[in-house]
Amino acid sequence: MAEFLSPQIPELLAPAGNFEKLIAAVHYGADAVYLGGQKYSLRARAANFDAEEMRRAVDFAHARGVKVYVTVNVFAHNRDFHDLEAYLRLLQEIDVDGCIVSDPGILIVAQQVVPDLPLHLSTQANVTNQASARFWAQHGITRLNLARELGLEEIRAIRTATDAELEVFVHGALCISYSGRCMLSTYLTGRNANQGDCAHPCRYSYALVEAKRPGEYFPVEEDNRGTYIFNSRDLCLLRQLPALVNAGVNAIKIEGRMKSIGYVGAVVRVYRQALDWLRQQIVSGRPLDSLVFPEVFDSELAKIGTRGQTENFFHAPPSSDDMLYDTMRCDQRYVPVGIVRATSPLLVEARHVLALGDPIECLHRTTVEPITVTVIKLQLEDGTVVDRVNPITRVVIQTDPPLLDLEPYTLLRKCITSA
Ligand code: SF4
Repeated sequence: MAEFLSPQIPELLAPAGNFEKLIAAVHYGADAVYLGGQKYSLRARAANFDAEEMRRAVDFAHARGVKVYVTVNVFAHNRDFHDLEAYLRLLQEIDVDGCIVSDPGILIVAQQVVPDLPLHLSTQANVTNQASARFWAQHGITRLNLARELGLEEIRAIRTATDAELEVFVHGALCISYSGRCMLSTYLTGRNANQGDCAHPCRYSYALVEAKRPGEYFPVEEDNRGTYIFNSRDLCLLRQLPALVNAGVNAIKIEGRMKSIGYVGAVVRVYRQALDWLRQQIVSGRPLDSLVFPEVFDSELAKIGTRGQTENFFHAPPSSDDMLYDTMRCDQRYVPVGIVRATSPLLVEARHVLALGDPIECLHRTTVEPITVTVIKLQLEDGTVVDRVNPITRVVIQTDPPLLDLEPYTLLRKCITSA
């Protein structure tokens, strides 16, 4: 079985909900991206890629040394198999680097139709033990995305049980159920999470109704905003990267094909910088178990706020502290305010209101510390000078000090509330 000899920096695997997000993930240093086609993918409401877009995406990524994995991870019904063989052949012809599957039926068909295409197991298959890991590896899976409900010791034990690559989710939204074993959305909205169409009712606010008094809703309140009894905080294992490297994990995965380009780029950027920092420490001979990330890594992730953070099962089963009972989302102090479209002159597409005098943070791809500058001129593409612009407007900006060495797809951010 696997014997882990020297620490390897894991592959950084990022979500690509559409072509723009793929470019942002690659720009900020992803080693690989995962995306869905128009079928068989558990994100029915992401834009997803048609065949031609997928071909362009693979060409774009491969030209930059980045791998592309395609999700084929629905729980398939008989009707889903009609076009499956043709779809799998298309993926092989496009030259994708692997398929992410969860259904044993799809696995068997893929092995018959595209035997050379690497097959990764989706987290939907819920690998939670050594025997399960061995089972899937014996059935041709080359990479196992482990269940999110595992602790470090269980991951280490599975490492000793199989030579298959191990992949671990490190950042993003969590289900209150085991991934893929949730019918809440189907029952409440008719939208099936297991076909990629979850309406996220675990984020709704709930009230209590007594069976003999229909229509009388008794509030269940943590505070006056209500109670979100199923609402988990988001996963963040940044501080556990040394332990994951030590455990021999081959890939770390960021959740979020439905998230914005600002979210994807900013999160990938922090994890890229974190892995590069870890590599430097290893090369310098520092023991992994003594490493503590500089505080800036935490503070940067905290600015990409969603529902707070939890390490989930990593050291102990989650408790009420890992839930967000009194609100659907945390208030966000920082928002993405723009994305660089061209650099000479500096053309920005606004993603939030952008005004003269705004202090904005520029997220370079090679440093974790943002650079803060002030907006001193805003000029529309027709030459009109303005005081402020609304989202989606493209505007040429000048800053003090000037922003240098920018590239298209660099993200800009601003603070919208005081501390
Ligand atoms: S309702 Fe919530 S727990 Fe259930 S599948 Fe959707 S996101 Fe996951």
